[in-house]
Amino acid sequence: MGNAIPIKNSKKAPAMTTSTTKKTNPSIRTKLETITLPSGEESLIVSPDTDLHKIIVVGGGAGGLELVTHLGDRLGRKKRAHVTLLERSRTHIWKPLLHEIAAGSMDVARHELGYLAQGHWHGFRFRYGEMTGLDRERKLVHTGATYDEEGRRITPPRSYPYDTLVIAIGSVSNDFGTPGVAKHAIQLDTPEDAERFNQRLINACIRANTQAGDIKPGQLDVAVIGAGATGSELCAELHHTTRGLVAYGLDRVDPERDIKITLLDAQDRILPALPERLSVAAAQALTKLGVEIRTGAFVSEVTAEGVHLKSGEFIPSELVVWAAGVRGPDVISKLDGLEATKSNLLVIDEYLQTSDPNIFALGDCTYLKPEGADAPIPPRAQAAHQEASHLYKQIRRRLGGTQLKKFTYRDFGSLVSLGEYTTVGSLMGFISGRSMWIEGSFAKMMYLMLYKMHQTALHGVTKVVLDTLSRMITRRTEPHVKLH
Ligand SMILES: Cc1cc2nc3c(=O)[nH]c(=O)nc-3n(C[C@H](O)[C@H](O)[C@H](O)COP(=O)(O)OP(=O)(O)OC[C@H]3O[C@@H](n4cnc5c(N)ncnc54)[C@H](O)[C@@H]3O)c2cc1C
Repeated sequence: MGNAIPIKNSKKAPAMTTSTTKKTNPSIRTKLETITLPSGEESLIVSPDTDLHKIIVVGGGAGGLELVTHLGDRLGRKKRAHVTLLERSRTHIWKPLLHEIAAGSMDVARHELGYLAQGHWHGFRFRYGEMTGLDRERKLVHTGATYDEEGRRITPPRSYPYDTLVIAIGSVSNDFGTPGVAKHAIQLDTPEDAERFNQRLINACIRANTQAGDIKPGQLDVAVIGAGATGSELCAELHHTTRGLVAYGLDRVDPERDIKITLLDAQDRILPALPERLSVAAAQALTKLGVEIRTGAFVSEVTAEGVHLKSGEFIPSELVVWAAGVRGPDVISKLDGLEATKSNLLVIDEYLQTSDPNIFALGDCTYLKPEGADAPIPPRAQAAHQEASHLYKQIRRRLGGTQLKKFTYRDFGSLVSLGEYTTVGSLMGFISGRSMWIEGSFAKMMYLMLYKMHQTALHGVTKVVLDTLSRMITRRTEPHVKLH
């Protein structure tokens, strides 16, 4: 793996049974052909009528959208390649914002980005659909049919030809088969999950405020399972927004008395993957807020009433969030034999190539343990961002027939934002290579920088500066918590 692949643009299209041609813009036409898949299902091959090298990026998340935007800007617009994004959603939200959506401290509409518009501005095609499989021999990515809320079909099953494919479909929570989690706990995998949790939280507060009798013990309690960055940050954010929500007029709810937040983890400290000093500082800050931290707590079952521990203890909870562990999406096991781990992560090498040299992968859906490293590259936005930047250069090299270069991950440190209260973390020194402890406003600024870097990769510096200024002004006239 890792060698330059000579690029040929003369691949034959698979045999077709029907064909139509449709003009979609003045320069590029789209050919539609129907094929029958091995499953017996019919699929529509959607192929651009061009000899250009076809690059498809599947998944427009933290890494995939940055990559496809760069590729579109530099290769798509200049007609050096045909660049397509395949994505199951129509809008993009940066995943590290999900806990803020869940807590209600962030307005989704202000941060979401439409893929169709992004593609139009940046020289790539957006195709709506969920990848369901691959045909590596014919170099086709399959997507399933899409439906609206009323069950009406929007698009039929389709197949897209590629010369270079990049899989960037992220990860999903791993409930390790714990009974009741899928049914009773919310897992923060998508913006829809986060909004569902937020609606349940607001409804629970309104219900408690308007009910005839007293608020019962445990009626508004929240249990967050998994004390990684997501769970810990969510607890602080929830503490802040529940107080905000109540302050806007839910006068029968006393947050100090009625809303208890419990953070549970099977390990012996919170933030187990981060340095111990960070874990101690975050635990102190959360305890000061009144969040109950339960380490060494192994969850055996989640029910509609709350959380059962292996020790036999029961924690009554109105709302349960499962934020422990990640695994690859199920579709990875259906990708025509691409090598994957037991937890469904695509195995890639240091060139970010899968076991098929025409297929690359990046971000949370991958497993890459660099030579000599103690652990694989962690599932983080900063890793997806670095891999996207690297892959953009490598795809250009691949088009030019040049040898690919290895990817080197640089850990810039870890920051944990405890909402409005504090941010703590360590940054890796650029010159010394040693980590530097930071907290407070400077840490908060560095935390926000990660999102700004993502936005800059998508929109450029000018737009991000103007957007930041406009948000600073409008934020003064808006509630800081979602009230509906
Ligand atoms: C609440 C929370 C807080 C976090 N905070 C931080 C943080 O502070 N710092 C940090 O570094 N990391 C953080 N992370 C981790 C970070 O969000 C991920 O590491 C990062 O988003 C991974 O990027 P990605 O491109 O691999 O996947 P994602 O950003 O998850 O994007 C995957 C995309 O693929 C699409 N997709 C999935 N399946 C399919 C399919 N079959 N077909 C088509 N499209 C598909 C999805 O809709 C999505 O758009 C946080 C995560 C969460 C949940």
